[in-house]
Amino acid sequence: MSVSIHPSVDKGVAPGSATFAGGTLTCHCATDPVTVTIKGNVAHNHACGCTKCWKPKGAAFSVVAVVGKENLSVTANGQKLKVADAAAAIQRHACTGCGVHMYGRIENKGHPFHGLDFVHVELSKDKGWAAPEFAAFVSSIIEAGAARPEQMAAVRARLKELKLEPYDCLSPVLMDAIATHTAKAKGVLAA
Ligand SMILES: [Zn+2]
Ligand SMILES: [Zn+2]
Repeated sequence: MSVSIHPSVDKGVAPGSATFAGGTLTCHCATDPVTVTIKGNVAHNHACGCTKCWKPKGAAFSVVAVVGKENLSVTANGQKLKVADAAAAIQRHACTGCGVHMYGRIENKGHPFHGLDFVHVELSKDKGWAAPEFAAFVSSIIEAGAARPEQMAAVRARLKELKLEPYDCLSPVLMDAIATHTAKAKGVLAA
Protein backbone atom coordinates (compact mmCIF):
# COMPACT_ATOMS: atom_id res chain seq x y z
CA MET A 1 0.00 0.00 0.00
CA SER A 2 1.14 3.57 -0.50
CA VAL A 3 0.93 5.58 2.68
CA SER A 4 0.01 9.24 2.43
CA ILE A 5 1.56 11.42 5.12
CA HIS A 6 0.90 14.98 3.88
CA PRO A 7 0.75 16.44 0.35
CA SER A 8 3.86 18.59 0.93
CA VAL A 9 6.09 15.57 1.73
CA ASP A 10 4.47 12.65 -0.12
CA LYS A 11 6.70 13.16 -3.16
CA GLY A 12 9.80 13.67 -1.00
CA VAL A 13 10.91 16.34 1.46
CA ALA A 14 12.23 19.46 -0.28
CA PRO A 15 15.24 21.01 1.46
CA GLY A 16 14.96 24.53 2.88
CA SER A 17 17.27 27.45 2.14
CA ALA A 18 19.87 28.66 4.67
CA THR A 19 19.48 32.23 3.39
CA PHE A 20 15.66 32.36 3.31
CA ALA A 21 14.47 35.74 4.61
CA GLY A 22 10.80 34.92 5.32
CA GLY A 23 7.49 35.11 3.51
CA THR A 24 3.73 35.34 3.65
CA LEU A 25 1.10 32.78 4.65
CA THR A 26 -2.33 33.12 3.02
CA CYS A 27 -5.53 31.35 4.10
CA HIS A 28 -7.74 29.44 1.64
CA CYS A 29 -10.47 32.09 1.25
CA ALA A 30 -11.03 33.11 -2.40
CA THR A 31 -11.89 36.66 -1.32
CA ASP A 32 -10.40 38.78 1.45
CA PRO A 33 -7.90 36.14 2.59
CA VAL A 34 -6.11 36.48 5.90
CA THR A 35 -2.38 36.96 5.47
CA VAL A 36 0.39 36.51 8.01
CA THR A 37 3.91 37.74 7.33
CA ILE A 38 6.92 36.00 8.87
CA LYS A 39 10.35 37.55 9.21
CA GLY A 40 13.14 35.00 8.79
CA ASN A 41 12.81 31.24 8.62
CA VAL A 42 10.87 28.80 10.81
CA ALA A 43 12.44 26.19 13.12
CA HIS A 44 11.61 22.64 14.26
CA ASN A 45 9.38 22.06 11.24
CA HIS A 46 7.76 18.63 11.54
CA ALA A 47 4.87 16.39 10.64
CA CYS A 48 2.40 16.23 13.55
CA GLY A 49 -0.19 13.50 14.11
CA CYS A 50 -2.04 15.19 16.97
CA THR A 51 -5.78 15.82 16.78
CA LYS A 52 -5.50 19.62 17.28
CA CYS A 53 -3.28 20.89 14.45
CA TRP A 54 -4.92 22.04 11.23
CA LYS A 55 -4.28 19.72 8.30
CA PRO A 56 -5.48 19.71 4.71
CA LYS A 57 -8.42 17.43 3.88
CA GLY A 58 -7.36 13.79 3.61
CA ALA A 59 -3.90 14.26 5.17
CA ALA A 60 -2.92 11.96 8.05
CA PHE A 61 -0.49 14.53 9.49
CA SER A 62 -0.22 18.29 9.71
CA VAL A 63 3.09 19.97 8.91
CA VAL A 64 3.85 22.56 11.57
CA ALA A 65 6.85 24.70 12.55
CA VAL A 66 7.68 27.39 15.10
CA VAL A 67 8.74 31.02 14.79
CA GLY A 68 9.46 33.65 17.45
CA LYS A 69 6.22 35.58 17.99
CA GLU A 70 8.07 38.90 17.50
CA ASN A 71 8.71 37.78 13.90
CA LEU A 72 5.04 37.13 13.05
CA SER A 73 2.44 39.71 12.12
CA VAL A 74 -1.10 39.50 10.75
CA THR A 75 -1.00 41.69 7.65
CA ALA A 76 -4.53 41.43 6.16
CA ASN A 77 -8.08 40.59 7.24
CA GLY A 78 -7.16 39.73 10.83
CA GLN A 79 -10.80 40.42 11.80
CA LYS A 80 -11.65 36.99 10.32
CA LEU A 81 -9.51 35.15 12.90
CA LYS A 82 -10.99 33.42 15.94
CA VAL A 83 -9.30 31.13 18.49
CA ALA A 84 -10.33 27.54 17.64
CA ASP A 85 -10.16 26.19 21.23
CA ALA A 86 -9.63 28.74 24.00
CA ALA A 87 -8.95 25.94 26.52
CA ALA A 88 -5.95 24.54 24.59
CA ALA A 89 -2.35 25.45 25.55
CA ILE A 90 -1.80 26.64 22.00
CA GLN A 91 -4.33 29.30 20.99
CA ARG A 92 -4.84 28.42 17.33
CA HIS A 93 -6.08 31.44 15.42
CA ALA A 94 -8.37 29.98 12.75
CA CYS A 95 -9.95 31.76 9.78
CA THR A 96 -13.72 31.81 10.26
CA GLY A 97 -14.13 31.82 6.46
CA CYS A 98 -12.12 28.72 5.47
CA GLY A 99 -11.13 27.04 8.74
CA VAL A 100 -7.37 27.23 8.15
CA HIS A 101 -5.25 27.88 11.27
CA MET A 102 -3.05 30.89 10.53
CA TYR A 103 -0.94 30.76 13.71
CA GLY A 104 -1.00 29.18 17.14
CA ARG A 105 0.19 31.25 20.10
CA ILE A 106 1.01 30.25 23.68
CA GLU A 107 -0.26 32.95 26.04
CA ASN A 108 0.77 31.14 29.26
CA LYS A 109 4.09 32.73 30.28
CA GLY A 110 5.03 29.62 32.29
CA HIS A 111 4.76 27.29 29.28
CA PRO A 112 8.10 25.88 27.99
CA PHE A 113 7.30 27.12 24.48
CA HIS A 114 6.06 30.58 25.49
CA GLY A 115 7.25 33.13 22.93
CA LEU A 116 6.93 30.74 20.00
CA ASP A 117 4.12 30.72 17.44
CA PHE A 118 3.12 27.59 15.49
CA VAL A 119 2.62 27.97 11.73
CA HIS A 120 1.95 25.90 8.60
CA VAL A 121 4.37 26.98 5.86
CA GLU A 122 2.36 25.12 3.18
CA LEU A 123 0.12 28.24 3.27
CA SER A 124 2.95 30.15 1.59
CA LYS A 125 3.98 30.25 -2.06
CA ASP A 126 7.47 31.39 -1.02
CA LYS A 127 10.23 28.79 -1.40
CA GLY A 128 13.00 28.14 1.11
CA TRP A 129 11.14 27.44 4.35
CA ALA A 130 13.05 25.02 6.61
CA ALA A 131 12.11 21.42 5.73
CA PRO A 132 10.26 19.08 8.10
CA GLU A 133 12.80 17.19 10.26
CA PHE A 134 10.80 14.58 12.18
CA ALA A 135 7.29 13.32 12.89
CA ALA A 136 5.63 13.98 16.26
CA PHE A 137 2.66 12.34 18.00
CA VAL A 138 2.62 9.58 15.39
CA SER A 139 0.37 7.18 17.35
CA SER A 140 -2.26 9.95 17.66
CA ILE A 141 -3.30 9.50 14.02
CA ILE A 142 -5.23 6.43 15.26
CA GLU A 143 -7.12 8.72 17.65
CA ALA A 144 -7.72 11.20 14.82
CA GLY A 145 -9.30 8.41 12.76
CA ALA A 146 -6.61 8.76 10.06
CA ALA A 147 -5.19 5.22 10.42
CA ARG A 148 -6.03 1.83 11.86
CA PRO A 149 -3.61 0.30 14.39
CA GLU A 150 -2.53 -2.38 11.90
CA GLN A 151 -1.46 0.32 9.42
CA MET A 152 1.00 1.96 11.84
CA ALA A 153 4.02 -0.16 10.89
CA ALA A 154 3.62 0.98 7.28
CA VAL A 155 3.13 4.61 8.37
CA ARG A 156 6.32 4.52 10.49
CA ALA A 157 8.25 2.81 7.68
CA ARG A 158 7.18 5.53 5.24
CA LEU A 159 8.15 8.29 7.70
CA LYS A 160 11.61 6.71 8.09
CA GLU A 161 11.95 6.48 4.32
CA LEU A 162 11.23 10.23 4.15
CA LYS A 163 13.85 10.76 6.91
CA LEU A 164 11.09 12.02 9.21
CA GLU A 165 12.02 10.03 12.32
CA PRO A 166 8.75 9.00 13.99
CA TYR A 167 8.21 9.90 17.67
CA ASP A 168 5.13 9.38 19.77
CA CYS A 169 5.56 12.69 21.58
CA LEU A 170 7.94 15.41 20.35
CA SER A 171 11.56 14.94 19.23
CA PRO A 172 14.22 14.32 21.94
CA VAL A 173 15.60 17.88 21.63
CA LEU A 174 12.12 19.38 22.24
CA MET A 175 11.27 16.91 25.03
CA ASP A 176 14.60 17.83 26.69
CA ALA A 177 13.71 21.54 26.35
CA ILE A 178 10.35 20.93 28.06
CA ALA A 179 11.94 18.85 30.86
CA THR A 180 14.70 21.45 31.38
CA HIS A 181 12.11 24.22 31.69
CA THR A 182 10.07 22.18 34.17
CA ALA A 183 13.15 21.15 36.19
CA LYS A 184 14.29 24.80 36.46
CA ALA A 185 10.79 25.90 37.47
CA LYS A 186 10.74 23.24 40.21
CA GLY A 187 14.28 24.06 41.37
CA VAL A 188 15.53 20.53 40.54
CA LEU A 189 17.98 22.02 38.04
CA ALA A 190 20.01 25.18 38.74
CA ALA A 191 18.98 27.98 36.40
ZN1 LIG B 1 -9.81 32.02 5.16
ZN1 LIG C 1 -0.19 18.77 16.21
